[in-house]
Amino acid sequence: MKSLARLTLAAAVAGGLLVVGAPAQAEDGMELVAVKESLLAKHYWYEQTFAGHPVLGGFYAKHVSKATGQETVDDGRIAVSGLPRGFAASPAVGSSKAGLAAQHRTGGPAYKSRLVVVPGAQAKLAWQVSTEPETGGSVSTLVDAGTGQVLSSTPLVKHATGTGKVFDPSPLVTQQNPNLKDTDPLSAFQYKTVTLNRMTASSKLVGDFANNTSKKPVTSTSGTYAFDRSQAGFEQVMGYYHITTTQEYIQSLGFTGVNNESQDYRTTGLTADNSYYDPARDQITFGTGGVDDAEDAEIIWHEYGHAIHDAQVPGFGTTNESGAIGEGFGDYWAYTMSQAVSPNTSVTPWACVGDWDAVSYTSSTPHCLRRTDGNKVYPGDIAGEVHDDGEIWSRALMDINIALGRTNANKVILEAQFGFAPGTTFSAAATKTVATAQTMFGSTAATQVKAAFQARGIL
Ligand SMILES: [Zn+2]
Repeated sequence: MKSLARLTLAAAVAGGLLVVGAPAQAEDGMELVAVKESLLAKHYWYEQTFAGHPVLGGFYAKHVSKATGQETVDDGRIAVSGLPRGFAASPAVGSSKAGLAAQHRTGGPAYKSRLVVVPGAQAKLAWQVSTEPETGGSVSTLVDAGTGQVLSSTPLVKHATGTGKVFDPSPLVTQQNPNLKDTDPLSAFQYKTVTLNRMTASSKLVGDFANNTSKKPVTSTSGTYAFDRSQAGFEQVMGYYHITTTQEYIQSLGFTGVNNESQDYRTTGLTADNSYYDPARDQITFGTGGVDDAEDAEIIWHEYGHAIHDAQVPGFGTTNESGAIGEGFGDYWAYTMSQAVSPNTSVTPWACVGDWDAVSYTSSTPHCLRRTDGNKVYPGDIAGEVHDDGEIWSRALMDINIALGRTNANKVILEAQFGFAPGTTFSAAATKTVATAQTMFGSTAATQVKAAFQARGIL
């Protein structure tokens, strides 16, 4: 039970008490942990202790007026009972066992621990263990020092959510209207209202998985980001939402180390009709020529594909073939992310990448930046241009997806990529992917994966 008494000297005197620096009702001990000075006073902060260990939540503060010397006390000490002093000196459970329990609960290794007293009528001695899961931010876990049981686990970094308006993946796909144009009136476009997850604070588009580095980044006091496509904030919201949901999907597959970071992206700085991932800055830039690239989630997914490769294999893509694998994987990633949010129609096939972006520079339908269902084969169709040659690789990945199903295909593809060399070849990367399928899902799956690469002339 917590007793919090705020006493001023005047009140104390009126109540017949004398308050001085020493505690009037100490449960055990107090340790001075901080002295701070403000304009008007000096502030002494004490930690409540029991048998030398800090008592969780227990505190005692003394504020001394510079002008008058008057003392004000905040006594936040808490009763500790039922805990033998001898036990507090030598707990049954050690720090390494407690650290493992905390790691098991939170998914991150322990980097700090200390013994604390959990106060109350039946007080407990516990290890307070700090861990840092790869999802970001420290977690504080209390492990009973008598039984080894986890008592509680509390994230120390608070997450916020916001609300935004987006295209998902694009108006052309959602509205199934191949005649939609960049110059159409605003009333021609339909939006989707979505939740913006994993924000560090709801006031700006910064979170665990995406970090808006655009010039004039939008902010919101209410966490609401409801822009239309004529406003600069719209593309910034598109970037935040689609990058975040992509990383959430990757983690749902079990991967905690595939670009698990706050990915920098910006929707300013490039007026050409192009986008790029810059490995030196680890940043995605979306161009604003033609249809703004960040208005089409399939372009966001493609660029994020480059960030995935770079995160898995430092410096990936040093040769034409490895570069083509990078482009082909990005196109495939747009294909497989589309599977979750859009129908596979003749107007906007999944295999058609960047439908909405492509209305600016294509006249025939469906509008496609590139396709993942072409019939190019290796080595005859190699042209020496990474995007064109990437269509060989993306077709193989799409065939693997069809054979294994979306979930298992993406597990194999992402897992295999960890083992690619920076300058890998089509042949070496395909061989690695087949072996990964064998390990993860057995020989039938491996045979299907091999067939997909054989059909492209790679194996
Ligand atoms: Zn690319």
